[in-house]
Amino acid sequence: MHSQGTLYTISAPSGAGKTSLVAKLLARTPRLGVSVSHTTRPMRPGEVDGVNYHFVSHAEFEQMLNSAAFLEHAQVFDNFYGTSQRWVESQLAAGEDVILEIDWQGAQQVRHLMPDTVAIFIMPPSKEALNERLTGRGQDDGAVIQRRMDAAVAEMSHFVEGDYVVINDDFDTALADLEAIVRSHRLTLASQQQRHAALLSALLS
Ligand code: 5GP
Repeated sequence: MHSQGTLYTISAPSGAGKTSLVAKLLARTPRLGVSVSHTTRPMRPGEVDGVNYHFVSHAEFEQMLNSAAFLEHAQVFDNFYGTSQRWVESQLAAGEDVILEIDWQGAQQVRHLMPDTVAIFIMPPSKEALNERLTGRGQDDGAVIQRRMDAAVAEMSHFVEGDYVVINDDFDTALADLEAIVRSHRLTLASQQQRHAALLSALLS
């Protein structure tokens, strides 16, 4: 696939603050978008269809899967999640950078398909903080929280597959770290040659 924008995967255990960080990063950064995944998970209170996710039935998900609509897909807990290939490709081709907020399984698939993908892992500052954040939601009972905690450890165990690791201890620092990653990638020779081809050629003529 020929692409101009940079593709980022951002993975994190539930409770590490990934979604809030990405939302703030998007608000501050031009030419950067986030893919809205398709999922069979039921909508949570406060979520909006088409904004947080495209909420679909199992049948719809399967149909998309069969028509090769997904760049990657995975099962997380009892639910299926997938990234629209067409949307991602169109954004990258238009020179937009794209973030995929996906789990380690999806990040592995994307890296395999598109080796230039930049993989970021966001980690919590401590296990206690993670536990507190998972419990703090107040929506689930102890068994569910323990299951989430186990899943969080499983997700975190893949951090070595990332190109960058951001520790979300202080929100603003973690946000600045993410901004630094995106900014530095925009300054690489390859990116600048694409973006400023005319200038770079004119300067040497
Ligand atoms: P949640 O249901 O709590 O929003 O997300 C559960 C997990 O699924 C998170 O780790 C999230 O990153 C992951 N996830 C969300 N969308 C996708 C997707 O399109 N693909 C994959 N592989 N994982 C996803």
